Formats: sequence, C-alpha cells, structure tokens
Amino acid sequence: MSAKTLTILGSTGSIGGSALDVLRRFPTSFRVHALAAHSSVDRLAEQIEQVRPPVAVLFEERAADELRRRRPGGGRTAIRSGMAGLLEVATEPGVDLVLAGMVGAVGLEPAYAAIGAGKQLALANKEVMVLAGELMMRRAQETGSRILPVDSEHNAIFQCLAGAPEAAGAPEATVRRILLTGSGGPFRDLPVERFGEITLEQALKHPNWSMGPKITIDSATMMNKGLEVIEAHWLFGLPAERIEVLIHRQSIVHSLVEFVDGSVIAQLGLPDMRTPIAYCLAWPDRLPLDLPRLSLAQVGRLDFEEIQPRKYPCLFLALEALKRGGGAPAALNGANEEVVGAYLAGAFPFPHIAGILAELMARLDQSLARAAAPPPGEVSALREVRSVADALAADRWGREQARTLIAASAASQSPSCS
Ligand code: MG
Repeated sequence: MSAKTLTILGSTGSIGGSALDVLRRFPTSFRVHALAAHSSVDRLAEQIEQVRPPVAVLFEERAADELRRRRPGGGRTAIRSGMAGLLEVATEPGVDLVLAGMVGAVGLEPAYAAIGAGKQLALANKEVMVLAGELMMRRAQETGSRILPVDSEHNAIFQCLAGAPEAAGAPEATVRRILLTGSGGPFRDLPVERFGEITLEQALKHPNWSMGPKITIDSATMMNKGLEVIEAHWLFGLPAERIEVLIHRQSIVHSLVEFVDGSVIAQLGLPDMRTPIAYCLAWPDRLPLDLPRLSLAQVGRLDFEEIQPRKYPCLFLALEALKRGGGAPAALNGANEEVVGAYLAGAFPFPHIAGILAELMARLDQSLARAAAPPPGEVSALREVRSVADALAADRWGREQARTLIAASAASQSPSCS
C-alpha cells in the first residue's frame, strides 16, 4: 500500500501510545502529520523528538506555550493550541486518516470536522458516537468518509461484518443481533452487598486490559459497556433490542455477530489494543504485526455469563438514555465524566457513582416532562440533537446537574463513615 498520512488526536494517552508503537514498526507505510494532546507537555515533547511531525497541538494554551519554549525536535515542529489547533490538524488537506484517541467530549468537534473533510476516521473516542452518533453517521454518508471503529468490541463487529455485503452499513436484513462482550470488571465476583468496601485502588485494577483511569472506572461500573451499546447502535444501524451484552471474563472473544441464518461469527485475540488500532490504520489491508499470539490451548476455556443487573446499574442507565434519545446520552455521558472525575479525586465511595447518575436521569425526565413546549436552548437539546452545538449543550447540562449532585453527595457524608 502507499504511505498513509495521519493525524493522531490524543497521542499522549493510552490509545495514542499504542498507535505510535504500531507506527514505529512500519516506518515506510505511514507518515505522521500531527500529534495532538490535551495538556501533557513532557510526554508530547518526547513524542515530538521521536516522531518529528510537522505539527503538534496542545489543547491547553498554557501547556502549548510551555511546549513552544522547550523547542522539542529542534524547533522544526510547529506548535498549535486550542480547538482551532485540533480542527486544523483534523482537516489538513494532506491527511488521509485521523485517529481520534482523545478522552471525552473535547474530541467531538475535531472528529466531526475530520469526517466533514472526507478523512478516514479511526475512532477510539467513544464519546463522539455517544454525543452525536446520528450526526456523525449522516455526515460520513454525505462526504463518503469511513468511520473505522477502534474500540475492541466494535472493531470485532466490524471485522465480523466484513464478509457481509452490507458491511458498509444498514445490516438489519441479515444480522439478527450483536453480542457485545465485557469482562465485568474487577468486581464481577464481589457480592453487591460489599460494593461499599471497594477502594479506589481496587477499582483502578482492570482484570484484563490496561487503559486510562477514567475508562477503567467505567469498566468497573460497566457504564463503559452501556456507552458501547449506544456506540454500536449508531455504527451498525441496529436497534438497541438487537444489541446484547454478555460477560466474558477472559476478554479473548471481543464480540460476536449472529446472522439471520443462525451463523455466529466472533473475532478473537489477546486483549491488546494494538491489534484493533493496526486494523483501522491499515484498513482495508492488514499489517503483519509481530505481537504475542493467542494460544487457545493455553487459555484453556472461554466463559460466558449473563449480566447481573443489580451489580451494574450504570449499564442500564445508559440503555435508558438511549431509549430517551435526543441529548439524553450526551447528558448522561457528560455527567458520568464529572462523577468519575470526582470519584477519582476521592469525593465519595464507589456505589455513589451509580446513585448520583440515577438521580441525574430522574432530573432529566423531570426536565423533559416540564418542557412540553421546549424553550430554545439546552432543554431542547436534551430532546433533539440537530447540531454539534446541541450535543455539547446537552453534555453541558449533564455536567452542571452532576456538579450540584456531587456537591450534595459530598456534603451528606461525614468523614467518619467514608
Ligand atoms: Mg471497549
């Protein structure tokens, strides 16, 4: 294949690091135009030394100033900042593929701009589809750009569908259902009565995958899986009732597709994000990636179990949000980012994450019920997402509500019982 030119959004994160590891192995197949990150000056400076991209971006202005002062790579890399910088490198005419590996809602605008500019979008930033899945799919159709899912489950489904004629979308006639697997996180064997004893350190220990702290907590609550159902709904054009979640503790079967004739196709592999990243970077080709290989004999057994709803209320909150439609998923996701952030800072015990988010959903329903004739602004964005601005308004509403709920929750706890 001819060399592809890439922009990597979120290069200093877990996905970005794995992507750079893949790229190092294939120096003639890829060129990096830009590395972009949120605020990690040290890490980005190091990556600039190694990769020597023409452009680098730090979203935070102050961090960008600090990076400019250091002149990494001998000052030959142009340093940009802010949303303008992200949008510039996401739409740069010479770029073929944008890897969207940022965490959170900040990645939405650049991802939307990238498909608007006709780029292939290797999408790891799942919030993009949660906030604005419908808009993203419509825009991709308009520009003929492809969204290539990096998330291991969606990448698995994408691979399972590759042999089907409708791989380009709308698989409803031949696919009966999608089975999304999830490990169940570190507390799958802990009785729900003991969830109050969970420490932050335990919550940050994922049994199979090594990921950033926010997504690791989302895996423990299975909010992550709920967001993935929403993501799959948009990416593969299937109603929520035809997307099932299955606990699979070994994280070897990354997901499955059941076709209408009863055939079930699965994608398997060791839990290593470099595999789905490489698949998206090279798509429709495959890279000869020299990584530890799966030995099924060594794995020995593959277990599957149904979800215990009492253990994972966050998963069901996400499904409720998908049912509400409009900006509900964006609001829940924004709130979840705030709540998990506060949890990581030690604000409250683990079970409060789900408790606060359940209250958030109740507030959302109240807000929707009150606004029978919605006034312009954020409440109408909760009902319907017509633009990226609407998606961000719904996200903001969720965050603001969450902050008040977090403050109330923290105030209600006496230090002696936390
Ligand atoms: Mg995943």
